[in-house]
Amino acid sequence: MPANSALKFFRTCRCCESPRASPTRRTFLAAGAAAVGLGTIPAISRVAPANAQVGAAKPRIDVHHHFIPQFHVEAMMAPGRRAGAPPPKWSPASSLEEMDKSGIATAILSIAQPGVWYGNNVEEARGLARQLNEYGAKMVRDYPGRFGLFAVIAPPDAQGSLREIEYAFDTLNADGIGLLTSYQDKYLGDPSFAPVYEELNRRKAVVYVHPTTPDCCRGLVPGIPPASIEYATDSTRTIAHLVFSGTATRFPDIRWIFSHSGGTLPFLTGRFIRLAEERKQTNLPDGPLPEFRKFHYELAQGNTPGQIAALLKMVSISQVLYGTDYPFRDGAEVNRGIADWGFAADDQRAIERENALKLLPRLKAG
Ligand SMILES: [Zn+2]
Repeated sequence: MPANSALKFFRTCRCCESPRASPTRRTFLAAGAAAVGLGTIPAISRVAPANAQVGAAKPRIDVHHHFIPQFHVEAMMAPGRRAGAPPPKWSPASSLEEMDKSGIATAILSIAQPGVWYGNNVEEARGLARQLNEYGAKMVRDYPGRFGLFAVIAPPDAQGSLREIEYAFDTLNADGIGLLTSYQDKYLGDPSFAPVYEELNRRKAVVYVHPTTPDCCRGLVPGIPPASIEYATDSTRTIAHLVFSGTATRFPDIRWIFSHSGGTLPFLTGRFIRLAEERKQTNLPDGPLPEFRKFHYELAQGNTPGQIAALLKMVSISQVLYGTDYPFRDGAEVNRGIADWGFAADDQRAIERENALKLLPRLKAG
């Protein structure tokens, strides 16, 4: 089919607007999957109504939810730091309002990019990380059951990170650690981060990874902000680096969560499989897929039919988590994506709540 005809077909095709997994939609998905070499889409055994309520009134656990206090906005908006516009206005009250509206029981707080590491200013990074982690922990205490915390550290500062990991877990009772996909030219497989990973591995920590604008690729395409392409790409870069550098296998007890359905990773698995074969990587005797399949992936801005189809060809339902990306997006968006896909009720409950509880059992009390 010529490109123009294909475009016209997709513009006029209304099948993917259906809130349910109709045979027409399945046909569309199967055709799309075949076109990109994904094979057959796994069977969707049962189809939940679009407006199905699963479990309690607020069953969902949101693992991608930002807190952005004003002091962090001021730090990140200094010249040369955050690419693009200031972040949306945010307050604890706005988070709670959004959570109630979207059926979210608990949101795990994490910082917004570009985080706390702005080059070699170690003292600023340590001070800002401590201030943010104290702020987040106070929200967890002030609103019992409603929030958790992925504490921020800056791995290029290994000593400061080790101190903050200890403080975050042992004093603030954080639920995990939040990292960015890259820190200037360093990706997460960087050997200098090993002391930090040794400690996180010893603690069997949950580590949530959020994309940022990489230094390599600011303003590459006129008129297209970095978030539109680079966030998804930077996620793939850092996952590939973790796996191919051997970091993921060296620290197997770290429980990784990646944002936005893994970015572009699910679409590029064929290239990485081939790369491992060509290199005969001894640390990846069965290729990179077994490592990719161990990680968790949340659905914020990664919940269109194509994204979910590709993700579910790479991992099982047990690795998929619910996320909103509030306040940049809201729960309505991901709720709609999940409803449109038409997961079986058990799978939906696993994604929205049970999988997160396995990682973060403390939340069961909430
Ligand atoms: Zn985000």
